[in-house]
Amino acid sequence: MSVARLDLNLCIGCRNCVNLCPMDVFYFDEAANKSVMAYPENCQSCAQCYLHCMGGSLTMSTLRAGYAMSGGRGLRTFPNQTELYKAEETGGWGGR
Ligand code: SF4
Ligand code: SF4
Repeated sequence: MSVARLDLNLCIGCRNCVNLCPMDVFYFDEAANKSVMAYPENCQSCAQCYLHCMGGSLTMSTLRAGYAMSGGRGLRTFPNQTELYKAEETGGWGGR
């Protein structure tokens, strides 16, 4: 499982994916005001970008496999962790 772009048009330029990704998968295109998946092969499937994407522009795909790192990176920034708890209870994201 790794990150994938669901719909670039949904990206609202919040930069959460750029700021949260521990693997620097994204960079930000200032002119377009959208993130760019520059190094998707580096994704380690932590899902922080997906969980905190304000536009719903990202998804987690089963096409490529990674391994889960820490789920705590977003905790310092975002107080509402409902989705994270839900993910922990169900054992993963996206019906894994
Ligand atoms: S799932 Fe994690 S490692 Fe992969 S792009 Fe998103 S934040 Fe980066
Ligand atoms: S987190 Fe989502 S909406 Fe925000 S910049 Fe990244 S892709 Fe765009």
